[in-house]
Amino acid sequence: MSRQRGITRHKLGGFTLIELLVVISIIAVLMSILMPALQRARMQAKNVQCKANLKSYGLVMQLYTADFEDRLPESFTAIYSWETIREGMRLAGGGWNPSIPGEYNLRPDGTYIPYLQANVKSNICSVFQDVYHRKWAGRGKPGFTYSFNWWLNADKPIIPKITMVKHPSRTFFAGEECVWQANDASGKRVNGAIFNDNSLCTFWSASASLQWVQGFNPDDPPPYTDVFGEYHRASTRKIYSAMDRGELCGGVSNTVCVDGSVQEVTPFDTLRYAIGIK
Ligand SMILES: [Zn+2]
Repeated sequence: MSRQRGITRHKLGGFTLIELLVVISIIAVLMSILMPALQRARMQAKNVQCKANLKSYGLVMQLYTADFEDRLPESFTAIYSWETIREGMRLAGGGWNPSIPGEYNLRPDGTYIPYLQANVKSNICSVFQDVYHRKWAGRGKPGFTYSFNWWLNADKPIIPKITMVKHPSRTFFAGEECVWQANDASGKRVNGAIFNDNSLCTFWSASASLQWVQGFNPDDPPPYTDVFGEYHRASTRKIYSAMDRGELCGGVSNTVCVDGSVQEVTPFDTLRYAIGIK
């Protein structure tokens, strides 16, 4: 009688070790099946947010050009003024990385800030921020993660007015710049900024850009300096290992074009999208 009660209690009150192990291993198998899918879903959500950010940059472009007779300002100082950039770099102990002011909570005071207003938060793509923290662990939030098209610039004699753009749906206004450190054929480092600097100029100098355009063949690979990044549609592991080796990883960037459309592009699209070649 008492023995029977004991068995009943055992069955209702707990599991045997074997049962527990079976349950744990089933959970482990389920996790291994679900985790990559969850990670993909998270990356997808970040990509959608990034595109929404760029959509609001497209609006900034419309508002700004409406106020300034279709002209766009110097791209380097779109988010922070030179003074604030220099102050941020001084606080960080030097080094060319204009997104540093964000880490020291310096106030964004660049040309587009009055137009961004409540959308100042949209300066940050969280995928880029992850990469930034991977590169420089323990540092604060970058000041921005998008770069503007250096060629669309009233101060430079290239495309001084937005109305002069031949192919608005194939010319970018703002996009994500590469993180990859570029070397020339002899292995010497050619690009100064490891991270983006708010200005995507396709090359490290204006004269080099022009030279490249003159002999431009859209099917040639670009020299990997100031080009679109590859933060989306690639696994973080792939992005990080490519970053460490200064290689490409096959991902895509988001960009907003002069017509306001947000598109996915690759480093190979950079020059085409910079100067509006179809
Ligand atoms: Zn992004």
